[in-house]
Amino acid sequence: MIKLNKSELQEMYDQIMKLIKRKPAGFFTIKKMRKVMGLCFYGPKGGSTYDENVILVDYRREFVGTFLHELIHYLYPDQNETWVLYAEKRLLNFCSTFQIASFLKIISSKLYKSEMEREACVFAKQNKTKQPRKIKKQAQN
Ligand SMILES: [Zn+2]
Repeated sequence: MIKLNKSELQEMYDQIMKLIKRKPAGFFTIKKMRKVMGLCFYGPKGGSTYDENVILVDYRREFVGTFLHELIHYLYPDQNETWVLYAEKRLLNFCSTFQIASFLKIISSKLYKSEMEREACVFAKQNKTKQPRKIKKQAQN
């Protein structure tokens, strides 16, 4: 297993920060999940119902660690679960409270935007299904 030193952990943190700044809000999703704390989808393969890259995190669990874990999966797709778990623990211990706060600041604004977009989608869908009924009623009168 490849061990991570301090400069590699700093590099990993920088990569994660770059990634979360670059990705659209829809990439980040919070969801209640029964069997897992988090999931990372790379694309439409593997029976995923999501057609785009997405990271799902159950907000009721260990939020920061789970989010970092899924982002490490995304950044290092060739690494196995054991290594990702190791990297997650190392990174959590390495990061300063300021680094974690900076991470949370970006993640929370992305999640807020992501949820706003979802709400807008639900609202648009509700309006679409309501409109034909209205037209029908007007036609009867
Ligand atoms: Zn994992």
